[in-house]
Amino acid sequence: MNRGQILLLIVLIFLNKTSMAGNTKNYFQQEVNYKIDVRLNDKKNSLAANIEIEYINRSSDTLSDIWIHLWPNAYKDRNSALCKQMLENGDASLYFSKEEERGYIDSLRFTADGEVITLTYDKSNKDIAVLHLSKALLPGNRVILKTPFFVKLPSAKFSRLGYIGQAYAITQWYPKPAVYDRDGWHAMPYLNQGEFYSEYGSFDVTIHLPQNYVVGATGDLQTESEIAFMDAKAVEAKNYSNDMAFPKSSTAFKSIRYTQQNVHDFAWFADKRYYVLKGEVITPHKENKVSTWALFTNSESHLWKNSIQNMNDAIYHYSALVGDYPYKQCTAVDGTIAAGGGMEYPNITIIGKAYDPFTFDMVLAHEIGHNWFYGILGSNERDHPWMDEGMNSFVEMKYAMLKYPPSVYGNLNELGAAGLAGRILGTNQYNYKEAGNFEYQIATGNFSDQAIANKAVDFTYINYGIVAYKKTALAMNYLQDYLGDSIFNACMHSYFDEWKFKHPHPGDLQKVFEAESQKNLDWFFKDFIYSDRSQDLKFKKIKKTDSGFDFTVQDKAKLNAPFPVSAYHDSIKFITWYEGSELGKMISFPCEGCAQLMIDEEGSTLDVNRKNNRFPRNHKINVSILPKTHALDNHSLFITPIAGWNRYNEGMLGLSFYNTSLPLRQFEYSISPLYAFGDKTINGIANFKFTFPVRNFFIDKISINNNLRKFSYGEELYRNENLKFVRENVGYVRYSPEITFNIKKSHIRNSISQTIQLQSVHLLEDQVQYTFNQGKASGAIKTENINFYRFKYLLVDRKVVDPYSLKFQTEANTDFAKADVEFKYRISYKMKGKGADIRIYAGKMFHDNLNGLYGYFLSDRNGVRGSNDYAYDELYFGRSETEFFLFQQMALRQGAFKIYTPFGAYKDWIFSANISIDLPIPLPLKLYADLGTTDEFKDDIKAVYDISSNFSYNAGICFSLVKNTIEVYFPLIKSEEIKKYLDNKDSKYSEQIRFVFNLYNLNPLNLRNQLF
Ligand SMILES: [Zn+2]
Repeated sequence: MNRGQILLLIVLIFLNKTSMAGNTKNYFQQEVNYKIDVRLNDKKNSLAANIEIEYINRSSDTLSDIWIHLWPNAYKDRNSALCKQMLENGDASLYFSKEEERGYIDSLRFTADGEVITLTYDKSNKDIAVLHLSKALLPGNRVILKTPFFVKLPSAKFSRLGYIGQAYAITQWYPKPAVYDRDGWHAMPYLNQGEFYSEYGSFDVTIHLPQNYVVGATGDLQTESEIAFMDAKAVEAKNYSNDMAFPKSSTAFKSIRYTQQNVHDFAWFADKRYYVLKGEVITPHKENKVSTWALFTNSESHLWKNSIQNMNDAIYHYSALVGDYPYKQCTAVDGTIAAGGGMEYPNITIIGKAYDPFTFDMVLAHEIGHNWFYGILGSNERDHPWMDEGMNSFVEMKYAMLKYPPSVYGNLNELGAAGLAGRILGTNQYNYKEAGNFEYQIATGNFSDQAIANKAVDFTYINYGIVAYKKTALAMNYLQDYLGDSIFNACMHSYFDEWKFKHPHPGDLQKVFEAESQKNLDWFFKDFIYSDRSQDLKFKKIKKTDSGFDFTVQDKAKLNAPFPVSAYHDSIKFITWYEGSELGKMISFPCEGCAQLMIDEEGSTLDVNRKNNRFPRNHKINVSILPKTHALDNHSLFITPIAGWNRYNEGMLGLSFYNTSLPLRQFEYSISPLYAFGDKTINGIANFKFTFPVRNFFIDKISINNNLRKFSYGEELYRNENLKFVRENVGYVRYSPEITFNIKKSHIRNSISQTIQLQSVHLLEDQVQYTFNQGKASGAIKTENINFYRFKYLLVDRKVVDPYSLKFQTEANTDFAKADVEFKYRISYKMKGKGADIRIYAGKMFHDNLNGLYGYFLSDRNGVRGSNDYAYDELYFGRSETEFFLFQQMALRQGAFKIYTPFGAYKDWIFSANISIDLPIPLPLKLYADLGTTDEFKDDIKAVYDISSNFSYNAGICFSLVKNTIEVYFPLIKSEEIKKYLDNKDSKYSEQIRFVFNLYNLNPLNLRNQLF
């Protein structure tokens, strides 16, 4: 499967040690041969079939049961491992699917050597069952298992099996014995993240389907009439168009038969719209003739018309680097049916939308490459995805670097690097290896690196693509640079020769590499791939000597891995590799007259911080106007013009100096001074953030953030000491240091994250203070110093269906103490992005010397100066406004009433419940209602407004362009006391409309932080 392009796209838009399978048991492998006869019903999207399985027990064990995979049942209901994993990975499509979109396998009636046998489903997985043999299967014996079966095909929009219209992807579709090997049975449920492990054998498959279908399948076609049909299709004239309609199915059926040996799976694809192209390639070593077939629709015919050349290149290249392609044919089909990327099966690959020729070539090469890493070298991909996806990605990377001159990579990939985002971020400058390294840095930059040797199911969704694919490819490249090309290539070839059509373990790969290279490679196979620490090599001690350099090198991650050191003398490069055992030891590097010494200049290692790899250090800073991705060996400084506006400062212009980009950096800052043209003052925002990982503690990450902000917040009219009226702006300076502790998760994939935060807010607030002299009051602006101290606990479950969060906060200073709690719960609808939100909020004042100055309110903006946001947490266009348009801006805080109400809890407690319900229509509209009460309500307010209810409420309809960020609230219903209050004020309806415009949420950098 291909994940790289998907990941790069995501990025641009926006430990456990598994035990090394060291087993002393002798290697053996079972043989499983299949005969299947299947009929496609393209009206009901189903298969009716009979299967005969010859199971040969080549182990020394007697088997009384055979574990069997019934993987179409993965689409049966919400309880399947597939559905659960998809949800965890943020995909609720199967969870919310309609009955008719789901699939299953049934009508099974197994016999063993003609006798009916029983089948028991696995308790937790309906796509796994165990067959109870009536006669135990002795070592060396065989049993013939037979059963009819019926498959209701699911929609192919979920995963790999199914249909879109009348395009069929028939994969993982028949009952299939699990692998029995040195470690026992490997029964596993079907998953998206975590692929395959199957027994080798032969297939003899006959497919019955309407005559006008074009079929691509594993194996060699045996039916003469169908061979003629395909050959004719291949040479017929092609009139490419935009037509994607399905022709009517022929009423007459055809029967076509395929056979293949030494494969571990059989997949087939059928579509009536397919064009056919045919070619041939001869493998480099054994000169095997391989027919290449391309089957495609009009969807991307401009890419597919050249696909035979792409396929031939990939087959030739992989054969040269790994070993000759051993089969007679290789087919690629256009997978407008599968979601994104591509998918591999023996002899056949399905390719999704690729958009541009370079991506198309790479995805095609990657999927064809799986014929080696998966097809021929059949490692257990669920347990060791790196041996499959990773090693395949490595050869794919080598292929890209060989085939395309380095200067043109970035401009080839329209989807990622060469698109607008790629040009802004500078990723179009990366070569293929550097692009992979950039993706890896995304994981390390957030301290969420994982070990290469993880099981597929233990990777986070994003790391499955980054670590199992890209990091492994980079690590294999590291091993290659360390061993040298010729030794490395010899190792690959012996691995292929020794393990083709078998089930190699990581230990087997190590053995081959060590035997061929005559080197101990424990550093790689026992340490490096099992570590989740990110390598960071640096010079520790270093001095220049008369004859060269004396130095020690340190790896901050304490990995015991080799490293190259190099220097130039008259532009001649001297390079030496040192073993990991040399780390920390004094090394003499003879190089007379050399000016500079470098660790890993060529980027062989996985060093994540190359700024400390040079002596003397270079302090080059890359400066640009828009944020570019960070270069590994330089500092970045971005200087972007910015503009702002508020009612008092009026128009502001300035520059933002910052280093925030991708990947995340340990120290990030932004300094954004703004000149205000209204009151001619300097304002702005500055932020300094330092994040570091913590190990072996219940905390896994600590970040320290310092935020500084200065703006004008209002306009005052007062008599000065000369008793003249003056109108003057007042401003504030807010400094808020905070420290945030990320509580370690029980498992890195857990969707619940918890943080504890300590924050203090220090305000310098301009206030007009009056003095009385001979009965006359005169004012002057003085600056008050006010401090607040906060403790916050936040729990967020980011699961895709029904996410929730809980926030508890206490706040105090010498004058008051209060605590509040906010619970949010979202009920997700089937319709993507829609749902209903419930919020419960309660707060209590424990101590208050200031008569409710820091009290609670049902609605935002209740202060004397327009806002009760006393700690200046929010940003408003007109903070001190008390009427009209700017006053109608609100923040969803405290009681979060959407209509203005003056009622609050000055002294004691508040409670509110807020509900908003997205309308299940493709318009951004929602209904909302707020209900709340406070201690003041019972007596004072009831008496003043002559009402009987203890509760205040309001409801209406909201236009929500961006949730909680850009929204307009139109009130429709309000409780009696709100009505009376507004009537007394002669408030017009237009003044009762309120809006949210949240500048924090609109900052792209905050958006970036939400991704991690
Ligand atoms: Zn793959």
